[in-house]
Amino acid sequence: MSVDTLTIPTQRAETSRISEVDFNNLQFGKTFSDHMFMVDYKDGAWQEPQVVPYGNMSLSPATSSLHYGQALFEGMKAYKDKNGDILLFRPLANLQRLNKSAERLCMPELPEDLFMQGLEQLLKLDKDWVPTQEGSSLYIRPVMFATDDYIGVRASLTYRFLIITCPVGKYYDKPVKVAVEPHYVRSAEGGAGYAKAAGNYAAALLPSRKMQEKGYDQLIWTDAKEHKYVEESGTMNVMFVIDDVLVTPSLSTSILHGVTRDSVLQVAKDLGYKVEERKVAVDEVIEAQKAGKLKEAFGTGTAAIISQIALIHHDGTDYELPAVEGREISNRVAEELNKIRTGQAPDTHNWVHKVSL
Ligand SMILES: *Cc1c(COP(=O)(O)O)cnc(C)c1O
Repeated sequence: MSVDTLTIPTQRAETSRISEVDFNNLQFGKTFSDHMFMVDYKDGAWQEPQVVPYGNMSLSPATSSLHYGQALFEGMKAYKDKNGDILLFRPLANLQRLNKSAERLCMPELPEDLFMQGLEQLLKLDKDWVPTQEGSSLYIRPVMFATDDYIGVRASLTYRFLIITCPVGKYYDKPVKVAVEPHYVRSAEGGAGYAKAAGNYAAALLPSRKMQEKGYDQLIWTDAKEHKYVEESGTMNVMFVIDDVLVTPSLSTSILHGVTRDSVLQVAKDLGYKVEERKVAVDEVIEAQKAGKLKEAFGTGTAAIISQIALIHHDGTDYELPAVEGREISNRVAEELNKIRTGQAPDTHNWVHKVSL
């Protein structure tokens, strides 16, 4: 399909901003491509979608999502393979999660064809914005928010759904120092921690800032009841290798169901590693470290894929982890996953979706 046969009404940017962009020097989340996808919901239905130039929107000061946080988002990436084709990684997994978040926040479900058509058309139009440099990608940010200009607390009757995109460079993957959070919680069982709800991130800022003031990059969230079990690391899922077994907290309503988490577990199993999803006590991790059995620890998420943990602080003590170069499981899985995403390894799970240009 050529850009001339676009099915969604499209208003093109008069001039492209792409020549102003230094693709070898991209800061995450600061550079946006020329267009965005936009569709509004009202009268119980999604209205006519459109692709328009990326730009500011005008909103009423009473826009309900600004007051009560009825807003959600997603994050995924597109890559270019060596033929110049655009590859999306598991886009339907992101749509499924978006709709689970929407359900939890009393927002309307987004149909698959609307999401996929909007995404594909946006990528076709902005195909030159998908970087080709090693390790680079186009970060895709879908977002939905309530648009009623009404300040009563209720589920809004109107919404806007947008997709914006940002070219991003290779993630700066310096191993991080993390600290186990003994006081604050990100989410509790029965809450909305499994949803990519905007408000979850606002509430996490203060605890993160406090940890950073103590010299740690990130915190390890623990369960809301006892602060005994590991939940996540910052805005990533977290995994450990203890005694050659890849261990990660099992999913619950308080843990974000990461697409990268799921992909890492699957690839690890495919490579023949033993994988366990279960409750992981903080004490178990610390005891394993003391006994020399904690071989690896890392976060998983779309932005960094795998973010290595260099040190874990718990209860007054810093525990150093083995050197990153020697971490067999995370390094092998990261390499394999990168090959699958970029079309350099067989896609045995049908994860890669090629955008027809
Ligand atoms: C988005 C997110 C993740 C990672 O999810 P991916 O689908 O792998 O990107 C993990 N934890 C939190 C809190 C998140 O917001």
